[in-house]
Amino acid sequence: MGTLASSADVLDASLPAPLLTSIDELRALLPAITDDRAAVMREVAARYQFRLPRFYVEKVLHNDAADPLWDLALPGAAEIYDAGTERWDAFQLPVRVVEHPRWIQKYAYEALLRTTDFCSGLCRYCYLKNRDVTPGVISMQEIDAIFDAAEKSPHRHALREIILSGGDPMAIPADRLEHFARRMERLNGTVNRRITVNIHTREPVWNPQRILSSKPLQQALRRLAPSAYVLHVVHPREVTPELHQAMELLSELGRQRRPLMLIQHPLFRHINDDARIITSMYDLLDSGKVVVKPYYLIHPFPDGTLPHHRLTLLESQRILRDLASAPGSRVPLLTIPTPMGKCVIGPYETLVDRGGYYLLHTKDGVPVKYTIAAHYNPVETRVNIPILSDDSSGQTAPEA
Ligand code: SF4
Repeated sequence: MGTLASSADVLDASLPAPLLTSIDELRALLPAITDDRAAVMREVAARYQFRLPRFYVEKVLHNDAADPLWDLALPGAAEIYDAGTERWDAFQLPVRVVEHPRWIQKYAYEALLRTTDFCSGLCRYCYLKNRDVTPGVISMQEIDAIFDAAEKSPHRHALREIILSGGDPMAIPADRLEHFARRMERLNGTVNRRITVNIHTREPVWNPQRILSSKPLQQALRRLAPSAYVLHVVHPREVTPELHQAMELLSELGRQRRPLMLIQHPLFRHINDDARIITSMYDLLDSGKVVVKPYYLIHPFPDGTLPHHRLTLLESQRILRDLASAPGSRVPLLTIPTPMGKCVIGPYETLVDRGGYYLLHTKDGVPVKYTIAAHYNPVETRVNIPILSDDSSGQTAPEA
């Protein structure tokens, strides 16, 4: 079972990241954590690993038990009830460019590479922490095996984008990114239309100093020249001066072809479920030298780990509606992740209750029964969110 495990060798030895891994270390910085709460945290951390960058604790969190961001970053009792039934990676195209556990492909034109199960900080709502994720950091041999297969696949010509994901691809050793860049260049020499790279990361929020100080990482990113960075930022307080510096640096590394800087984030009740909070976050992000585009507003996974922060789909849509009266460049897409793919709904789309579910469609038109339940329900498992039997898209899902 994947645990987003830590391992000392995933970060450059020359750059020991100041990561907190024990509740006692955390309490030294946040003395407002009571003995009772610390006991619960230890119990949860024994099951789901705890890790937070010192930077985030010092610069973002408040030493106040009422800080809403504590729930997202500090172990909490709600996690114990996570049934672990999310199967985001389980439904894939029957025919993929590459057959490899790290290669996730739901669309002919896009593949996602799970480069690691490591992140510098572990979000307590992470949908991957209780799932079957390939452990450890991608090796040079794995990169070669994946790209050797891709170069031979006739389906590679349909591919338009490879997403580097994880865990966090910006937290892996720089030599892997450098090697990935080399192999991307080679792969692109075999296709008529360039396959672009897109990096999904929270490292500039968790641990921006690593990006700002690691020359090998910067060199690898310069060579990789991603078309976009998709930053995971959930709250205005996470927009630190260091995050701005990291964004500027990442943009500068792409001097020949500036990367898009996109923002995506889940929605959480009592944390960022208000268009004013989200707008203020977007404004702060866009106040520096880098143009930042709101990209995805993510409705939480149906069986996410923090039930008390989950919203109904109607509530998420209401937030989008409040955000929609703005220039198009400032409005995100509301996306609903389902095992069958992403569904996107508009601010004024009518959602019809069809007997406990809404009928949504993925961006490829695959129909999805999406539960209406407001809160996490342990029986709400894969069998309750199937591809409909009259699926006419031609895609099939593996047996549950
Ligand atoms: S940054 Fe993403 S992958 Fe990493 S712990 Fe958070 S949600 Fe999970």
